[in-house]
Amino acid sequence: MIYNNNSKEKYEMSKKNAQLDLLNSEQELIKKRKEEKKLKLQNTILNYSPSEFAYGFEGCKKCYYDKKINNIEFKSFFPPIFNTFDKLQKNYFNGKNSKLIDNSVEDGVIVADYEKIIKTKVFYDLKKRPFTMSGKIDAYIKHKNGFSVIDFKTTNINESKIDLYETQLQSYALMLENSNEKSLSLSPVIGLGILCFEPNEITNQNKNLADMKWYTKWYKINLDKTHKKIITYITKIQDFLLDGEKPMPSEKCNVCNFLKKKSYL
Ligand code: SF4
Repeated sequence: MIYNNNSKEKYEMSKKNAQLDLLNSEQELIKKRKEEKKLKLQNTILNYSPSEFAYGFEGCKKCYYDKKINNIEFKSFFPPIFNTFDKLQKNYFNGKNSKLIDNSVEDGVIVADYEKIIKTKVFYDLKKRPFTMSGKIDAYIKHKNGFSVIDFKTTNINESKIDLYETQLQSYALMLENSNEKSLSLSPVIGLGILCFEPNEITNQNKNLADMKWYTKWYKINLDKTHKKIITYITKIQDFLLDGEKPMPSEKCNVCNFLKKKSYL
């Protein structure tokens, strides 16, 4: 009887030890994989798109992380009508005087037909980690002594939302003054601003044509000529992407909540 108890104890003990060993080696493996991934990331030059800051990094950090690091993107439906609005705005303003936007804007000619992607040279964040940027601008103004960048936004006009877009505009200034040799280069950039459009009323309808009035509002963004603000912001993003722990999904997002209910997560 004593012999049996001892053997059972020994068996339980060795089973426990084997489980612990397995757990330890699994944890070691996970740690090793994490370190390998971190090392690989530290040697990668991430590219940032300024239009992704407001609703990407500032929206849901998990989706942003998956897109930038794991190359997995959740593509939500973007109503194509917004591209039509964008084209109409560009066509209307292209070649016109900047005073049409707002009397406070410095005199110049609006250029709104540049469609190509602007790519930059390699920059370094405040911790000396490299990164590049690429993106498209809506329009710029050619002044006598420099350039201003304009972003058109079709949205409900609400001043409190404007701060959210500041990083996008400061990025354009950095990009245009430091683009690679094949891209558009505008220097010095002396102004930034957002022209908001909000539909207001239909004033006339005749057969297949309707006239619509829009509210418009110009928001000047104070340009940071040193580009320190945007480099600091990118440093914060790189800290999060390169050194941080993988974030959890937002509890408010319907998509993740739906997937959770369907047990995909
Ligand atoms: S909660 Fe989930 S689906 Fe929603 S934005 Fe975040 S990661 Fe993406």
